[in-house]
Amino acid sequence: MTEYIFPPAEIPSVAVRGSTQRYAVSRIFCVGRNYAAHAREMGGDPSREAPFYFSKPASALTPSGSTVPYPPRTQNLHHEMELVVAIGAPLFRAATEQAQAAVWGYATGLDMTRRDLQAQAKAAGQPWDTAKGFEHSAVIGELVCASELGDMGRGAISLAVNGQLRQQGDLADMIWRVPELVANLSQFYHLAPGDLIYTGTPEGVGAVQPGDIITGAIEGLGEIRLTIAAPE
Ligand code: MN
Repeated sequence: MTEYIFPPAEIPSVAVRGSTQRYAVSRIFCVGRNYAAHAREMGGDPSREAPFYFSKPASALTPSGSTVPYPPRTQNLHHEMELVVAIGAPLFRAATEQAQAAVWGYATGLDMTRRDLQAQAKAAGQPWDTAKGFEHSAVIGELVCASELGDMGRGAISLAVNGQLRQQGDLADMIWRVPELVANLSQFYHLAPGDLIYTGTPEGVGAVQPGDIITGAIEGLGEIRLTIAAPE
């Protein structure tokens, strides 16, 4: 048996609807601009250029229903409501037609973003880690097995802050659809069970403040909820 100097951290995991078993997470991949209107609002070009990725540590996972402190070193914490894909089979250098079979399930997600740090990083050509990969930045609802869902190629996706609608879109508006994303990501990595993919956000991203309650929903997946508390 391996002995460790310090006790290892708990394995990050996600609740599964209708099951007592949890989905253990090893990696969190995120897709950059994947809805045309959001690409435009971020000053980008919504053309079908190859998708690009960044990642968050699995330790950033935070279950829906949590209350989290407003994070340090930002004045502009943004919500990004996203469909999350959970991989359930090994996949490497796959074609689009092979990719859907490797999708185990789906969840609602929030890609919380320190937008000011992201803007500084972009301007300086620096990595996005402090903007995207901070503690509590990967909020996730219950996972739902793909076999229980219809085609997730379309369906309403929305987010409200304190009950006021901020983001509203449709999964059909993705520039790169789920099988295309999974196939493309598999060109770069040996995808495996435990890999989550945050698939990008529709337009309407914006700032939240301490005391705000964020609620989001995706058709078929139900709600996600996050409360922002005072900074520590
Ligand atoms: Mn995002």
